[in-house]
Order: sequence, then C-alpha cells, then structure tokens
Amino acid sequence: MADLHTHDPAGRRRASPAPDPEAAGRALAIHARLCPVYGCPIPYFHSLDPLSELVSSLLSHRTRNAESGRAFKALRARYPDWSVLLDAPVPEIEATIAGVTWPELKAPRIRAVLRAVAERHGALGLDFLEGMPVAQARAWLEAIPGIGPKTSAAVLSFSTLRMPALPVDSHHHRVAQRLGLIGPRVDVGPAHAILRAQLPADWSAQDLYDNHEILMLHGQQVCHHGKPACGRCVLVDLCPSAPAAYREP
Ligand code: SF4
Repeated sequence: MADLHTHDPAGRRRASPAPDPEAAGRALAIHARLCPVYGCPIPYFHSLDPLSELVSSLLSHRTRNAESGRAFKALRARYPDWSVLLDAPVPEIEATIAGVTWPELKAPRIRAVLRAVAERHGALGLDFLEGMPVAQARAWLEAIPGIGPKTSAAVLSFSTLRMPALPVDSHHHRVAQRLGLIGPRVDVGPAHAILRAQLPADWSAQDLYDNHEILMLHGQQVCHHGKPACGRCVLVDLCPSAPAAYREP
C-alpha cells in the first residue's frame, strides 16, 4: 500500500523521485528528534468518512481551522446528505460557507468535485478507495479538477480510510524548505512526492501522519513564518538555515 511511485491523473505509473540519501537520513533524524517533543503517536484530529474529509479539505485552503470547521458544520447542517448538495444552487452553498477564504470559488468547486466523484464512481462516496494502493487512489482523486496532491493525501490520511499518505501543508512545506529537505523553489505540490520518498517505504499511516503533524506543529510553534525561534529549536544542529551563532557548540 506504500505510495513510493506515483501515477499521473490518467492512472499511468510514473517514476518516483529518487531520494537524496543525505536528505533521507536527515529526514529520519528530524522525525526522531521531533517525535518526543510533540508526543507521537499523535491522535488523529478527524474521524470523517472520506467524502466528508474531501469537503473539509476543499474548505480549508488558505483558511484558519476555526473558520473552515465552522463552515463545514454549517454545510453539514444544511446538507445532511451530501447528495443534496449536488443540485443545490451555488449562491446557497456560497452563503453557507461565507466565513472561509474565497467562498465564491469554493462553493462551485465543491459542488463540481462532488458531481465528478458521483459521475466517475457511479455513486457518491469514496469508501471504495480503501482497497487501492495509495498511489493509485491518489491518482484517482487527482484526476478530478480541483483536487491536488495536498487534498488527495488529506483524504487518504485524515479520513477513516487511515491510509499511508503524507500530506504537506504550508507550515510543513516551510519547515522542510528551511531544513533543506526540499529546494527553495519546490512548491507544495511537488514537495509531496519528494518528502514521501525520503521516508521509509514501509511506514504505517500513523508514522506518516505523525511526520506531517510534527513538522506542521513545529512550523506553528517554533519555526514561525515571520521569525523562526531558532534559539529554542531542537533541530538547530540539523538545520542549514539556523544562524551560525546557534549552530556553533
Ligand atoms: S533552526 Fe530555525 S530555521 Fe531551522 S527548523 Fe529550527 S526554527 Fe526553523
């Protein structure tokens, strides 16, 4: 079930990026260093079915968790069965999710994505992904316009599918760049395959979830967007971005 190779949206198998052995070794050292700090194994924050996780993930883009959580609850209250949303007027969906960033874009996108799921699968649901290899399940999802690597990984990892996929959010991405695990010009999308390839092929869903969570938490709590707190960072000796004054013994 490991996703160490990738598929294009047509389902064709593609070569995965070869991991840089030095970066892979450092990725493991970073994981081992951060896990005790943030308390692995980290409890899953969601227990949503995969279709609901998809909706939640589409709402969350560039939006604070509290706001996207509120919008998800409002959407769920208005459409207790997602099939009702398939024919709902876009302005009604938009008004329901008004608190998120870009509701005018997300409302039609959510409806279009759910319609695409229903059309491609023949039914509105994603539980069938459970039996697929991770790379194939991700390719199936990413063939739908509006679903990228971050959303496909979130659906497989965070939902009740609990599949071994590695999501990369903006905090995770920033910290990985500062740590030199990915290059300075690697965007979030391509970062997914590179960072996954640096981790062991046989890691479980929980291991990969922990890896995502600890890097995300480190970005939120220490390696801030504006001013990283290198003086109190446990990774200072592993980080090429740390000021020399902190790295010297
Ligand atoms: S040493 Fe500084 S830049 Fe590097 S991970 Fe820690 S906080 Fe971020």
